[in-house]
Amino acid sequence: MSVITPAASVLLTRGLGSREVYAILRGRQLKFFGGFWAFPGGKLTHLEGESSDPLQARRFAACRELFEETGVLVARKSDGSFPAITDALNDGRRQLLLDQLSFEEFLGQHGLAVHAADFALIGEITTPAFAPARYATTFFVAHQPAGQDADIWPGELEHGEWVDAATMLARWRDGAFVTPPSVMTMQFLGDQPIDEAPRLLGPMFQRLVDGAIHPIFFAPDVQMIPLKTVGLPPSTYTNAFLVGNGPRYLIDPGAHEPDEQQRLFDVLDAQPFDAVVLTHHHPDHVGAATVCADRYRVPIWTHARTAERLQGRMAIQRLLQDGDRLDIGKCPADGQPWYLEAVYTPGHAVGHLAFFEPHYGLLFAGDMVSTVTSIVIAPPDGNLVEYLASLQRLRALPARMLLPAHGNVSVQPTQVIDGALEHRAKREKQLLDALAEGPAAVDDLTARLYRGTPETLMRFARAQLVAGLLKLQHDGRARELDAQRWRVI
Ligand SMILES: [Zn+2]
Repeated sequence: MSVITPAASVLLTRGLGSREVYAILRGRQLKFFGGFWAFPGGKLTHLEGESSDPLQARRFAACRELFEETGVLVARKSDGSFPAITDALNDGRRQLLLDQLSFEEFLGQHGLAVHAADFALIGEITTPAFAPARYATTFFVAHQPAGQDADIWPGELEHGEWVDAATMLARWRDGAFVTPPSVMTMQFLGDQPIDEAPRLLGPMFQRLVDGAIHPIFFAPDVQMIPLKTVGLPPSTYTNAFLVGNGPRYLIDPGAHEPDEQQRLFDVLDAQPFDAVVLTHHHPDHVGAATVCADRYRVPIWTHARTAERLQGRMAIQRLLQDGDRLDIGKCPADGQPWYLEAVYTPGHAVGHLAFFEPHYGLLFAGDMVSTVTSIVIAPPDGNLVEYLASLQRLRALPARMLLPAHGNVSVQPTQVIDGALEHRAKREKQLLDALAEGPAAVDDLTARLYRGTPETLMRFARAQLVAGLLKLQHDGRARELDAQRWRVI
């Protein structure tokens, strides 16, 4: 369903045996990993993507991206030497950035060629299916030619810097945002030379290609585990989270299918944890709760209203309330006591809990907001008045990162929540405008306001509309006349 874009990325080193790699800080405005530390790289151009030699095309793209982003040009002259960076080459870099020149033309103009041996292959990582923007990124190691110096120009990137793995990981533990593939790469490399990456990382990359769950860490000791679930498109994945380093909790294991549950077990077998914690009772959040509880002999915890909904399906051993603190060990940044706080947020579901981690400002939002779709509020379990109040509560938290159950994380939690609030305000205005034309039945209103919605989703659209009407009734702005016909007051 989602399109996978080919991309290339480079671990640039200062030569054989070097433990330093060139890290870049992506501009906050960028849609994909804005504000994150990463390695130079980007997507293939249309032409590169169509090449009959995909690997060579990726090397070519790696060379181009590296030059565009850092000014380092790993292409050789006909005598086999690397060029010194001249004004003419910098002019070319400018034109490349402005798309006024193709890299092929640029290389031709300067008598340069990309040599395969200069870009040692590590392997490929494809963004797991939880994110709508997915990249199949091929990673290479390259050495900065003698006489050249990496240099970031103002634009898409904020900053660049030579760092070793320990420095990069220490910053991450202190709270800097680092892309999960960069974290994974640095953790695996440790204090080994960067040019060992193909040998050290290759097998692990291959396991991911073969279907293993990616080790996705957006913060230390916080693993995101996207699992295929029974949600409606585009929410066909639910993010479970394994959080903590003392006591550790598994939040929302939603997988139903045995194969997908086995993928989850492959992660959990090596990482003991203390309880399954559920944000709410919907099937795509609880699908693997009992199998995990049984397999690992751990209890299931959730809010009392969620426990009611799950009665007869699973036993809940602890009822969580608003403000309850779950000990998750020692904060990786300062060694102080570390905890998650439960935030009771009814609205999408009557017993919904979000969880907030105050040191890094991590907001585990469950189904309160999503970065792929709008949230279904279906009465009577859903209540729009409560939902909006709950959103305002979450908005007031000092969150730095939003980790939703559906979609990628966002480092702009306030904007995402504001987007959800604006969406509801827009829907309410449409509903009031429609009612202003005279009393109308629910089905007619639904057909009018949700025109173009796929038939399979119409019952959700209808539920949303009823939720909107009930809110207007609560606010004293509309009332039900008779058999499902409504009018404004
Ligand atoms: Zn839900």
